[in-house]
Amino acid sequence: MSIRAAALAALLFVTPVAAQNGPSDSAAATLQSGRPLAPEQAAVTLDVADLAIKVLPETRSIEASAALTFTATAPVERLVVDLDERFAIAEVSVDGVALSADDGWGQDDGRLWARLPGTLTPGASVTLRIAYSGQPRVAPRAPWNGGFVWSTAPSGEPWIATAVQGEGCDLFWPCIDSSLSEPGRVDLHITVPSNLSAPSNGRFLGTVDHGDGWTTWNWSARNINTYAVALNIGPYQKVEATYESRFGNRFPMEYWHLRSDDPAKVRALFTQFAPMLDFFEATIGPYPFADEKMGVVETPHLGMEHQTINAYGNGYRIDLRGYDWLLQHELAHEWFGNQMTHVDPDDFWLHEGLGTYMQPLYARWLNGDRYMQIELGEMHADLVNAFPVVTGRPLIGGGHFEGQGPGNDTYFKGALTAHTLRLLIGDEAFFRSLTTLVYGRPDPQPGNFTTVRRSTRDYIDIVEAEVGRDMDWFFRGYLMNAALPVLNQTRDGDRLSLRWTTGDGAPFPMPIEVEIDGVVTTVAMTDGRGEIAVPSNAHVLIDPDNKVLRRLDLIETYRTSRARPN
Ligand SMILES: [Zn+2]
Repeated sequence: MSIRAAALAALLFVTPVAAQNGPSDSAAATLQSGRPLAPEQAAVTLDVADLAIKVLPETRSIEASAALTFTATAPVERLVVDLDERFAIAEVSVDGVALSADDGWGQDDGRLWARLPGTLTPGASVTLRIAYSGQPRVAPRAPWNGGFVWSTAPSGEPWIATAVQGEGCDLFWPCIDSSLSEPGRVDLHITVPSNLSAPSNGRFLGTVDHGDGWTTWNWSARNINTYAVALNIGPYQKVEATYESRFGNRFPMEYWHLRSDDPAKVRALFTQFAPMLDFFEATIGPYPFADEKMGVVETPHLGMEHQTINAYGNGYRIDLRGYDWLLQHELAHEWFGNQMTHVDPDDFWLHEGLGTYMQPLYARWLNGDRYMQIELGEMHADLVNAFPVVTGRPLIGGGHFEGQGPGNDTYFKGALTAHTLRLLIGDEAFFRSLTTLVYGRPDPQPGNFTTVRRSTRDYIDIVEAEVGRDMDWFFRGYLMNAALPVLNQTRDGDRLSLRWTTGDGAPFPMPIEVEIDGVVTTVAMTDGRGEIAVPSNAHVLIDPDNKVLRRLDLIETYRTSRARPN
């Protein structure tokens, strides 16, 4: 595996959940994210989560209080939240009235329930407060197997981060651990030793020095994905600048880096922020969280799309791409993941496949076609094709693990499918389809959109509306089959016959270009078949510009040889 592939593979969950938790680990239900909602969870919306969390590096523990304000959407008699049962619960109260631990609240299978004084009717609101403390799960291998990361900065101070995408918010705060339950707002009051900083999500609302060696950092973030809420604590310094957007607005860019970092490396990375933002704004649309900030924090793990405070742990590595791919990948998620969030983990490719396609597009934006093609070619060589990227069924958190699911194919096949789609329907329709997917409208301007949730079906509908014809065959052929489409070729006399076969045998009318002695002709492939005249000694090149993703013998041969020791 190349260094590049190893680095990109690193973005994935590669270990099955069942193998992760030892006897003292969090319960299996807690380590799952996106399991079916309890009926009481489906009957409420979480308007505000006000979280006060004191982080104690010496004991690797937290002391916390969470006030969660819910509004009922259906009559409900109990509130149910997900929270790791490894925490001790000091008190549970509803609207300021403490509940009895005998029959007022309880815990079961990773969930905490609290009895309401009466039926909460639709439209009515209530605030549940939970005081809890203990040692949160330590991440066995962040960010792929997540929890708290307790590290030490090169200068000796504690360096702490959270990363819980695979396991969920319930590893350190009470929430509804589902992409369907994005809180309207999360307020954070993070108390840390006064010699450390605690950059976090959203807008900075100031610090309070308690004069006893502890300082509270206050932040507020709106419409935030549950797993994007993140603590970052360390001996940080901030570089900042104002970004002048092509949409006419301005907002702060912040990079919180370790004080011990080489200033030249810090500068070189920070210099990449504005051009990357401009690429995304030109390609997709306005930066979605301009009313808060664009933020990045250096972390002891590789990275994660923590909304407005993306985790960066790529160590300022230089490669031939000409940009920092990790920084770019996580920034792509502000559009693909944070602004537009999938309905179900089965739609994960909307985050990772489309987000990953932004890297070769950015390589092209910076340095031309060659650098885009290099990235696409390497992605193709890494496809496993063992599981479909989209199953059409709801998935809980583990569905994407390598060996149990599509693994890296979600990233790479998703990106290659997007590339083929772009060349099939043209730039105008393709980029408008992405903009419509991400904002819910084709004409986003700062202030005229809010966060959206979308499914694979939604995206197919958007593309079909753009091009005015059925496109199910395309997404079915590429994403809903494990195997890549195969272009069968038969040469008989002066005829070349072409025929597509897909994993499930469904029709695949993908046009294909054929170059015959230097002259390119497009074969329509209506009904998945086509024919073209070829002089007997002519040189034939199928798909000369590599537009169409398909099974290629050269890659299969390469993968087979790589799998066998010489
Ligand atoms: Zn990602």
